[in-house]
Amino acid sequence: MNIKKTILIVDDSEFVRSYHSHILEQAHFHVITAVDGSDGLEKLFTNACDLVLTDINMSNMDGYEFIRRVRADGKYSTLPIIIMSTESEGKDKMKGFDAGANLYLVKPSSPEMMVENIRMILVAN
Ligand SMILES: [Mg+2]
Repeated sequence: MNIKKTILIVDDSEFVRSYHSHILEQAHFHVITAVDGSDGLEKLFTNACDLVLTDINMSNMDGYEFIRRVRADGKYSTLPIIIMSTESEGKDKMKGFDAGANLYLVKPSSPEMMVENIRMILVAN
């Protein structure tokens, strides 16, 4: 039996949330969505998630703060976290890795690329 992996998508854009949900559901993942960092924390703390895909630029709580708070909880020290952001500069990537992200993808990224990276990280984990 193949149990579906659960992915938490954190993004303030409704378009991105539904587009990425669609892609990941097509790839046989179970998807949960959150509209910003604080909603993301709530969803993460109340669901068993295998991987997090998060945006950076969000009001209320941005992706960096969200990741720092996730990593502050020892229970989530090895949870794979992928940033998907339109910010493509090196300093943004460094900030993302400093916060605790495992991977940084620049939006827009092809659906194949996104799914491939998620599978790769889940296998390695
Ligand atoms: Mg955003």
